[in-house]
Amino acid sequence: MSAASGKCLCGAVSFTAEAVKTRHHACHCGMCRRWAGGALLATAVEGVRFQGEENLATYRSSDWAERGFCKRCGTNLFYHLIPAGQYMMCVGSFDDPTAFKLASEIFVDHRPEGYGFTGDLPQYTEAEFMAKYVTGGDGKTK
Ligand SMILES: [Zn+2]
Ligand SMILES: [Zn+2]
Repeated sequence: MSAASGKCLCGAVSFTAEAVKTRHHACHCGMCRRWAGGALLATAVEGVRFQGEENLATYRSSDWAERGFCKRCGTNLFYHLIPAGQYMMCVGSFDDPTAFKLASEIFVDHRPEGYGFTGDLPQYTEAEFMAKYVTGGDGKTK
């Protein structure tokens, strides 16, 4: 998908993004689970622009990343890899969620027993994911 728009639950923060990847991943890591209330469904975008930025808050969840949400309604909007400048937008915040398809699950060794996704998707443990996509601790993808 080239460009897409989205917004938080109350509408105080909206965004447009370019080069939106329609194949997204689900992260089962402990931070995403607490932040999202379950697995985090997020997808890579470029050129994201926010409107209502005064209502946008961020939480620095690690040395290399922050998570963005609406100050008014609490909707989780993105995970931002700071060194790489990469935004991963929460799939559920897009205005048209029908274009998205789950492509893989990561940190599957942290997934609770009580739920899971259907389908025969590629699954990566934390160690497998870090070895495949991340170099060092700076969050830069290979
Ligand atoms: Zn809101
Ligand atoms: Zn995660």
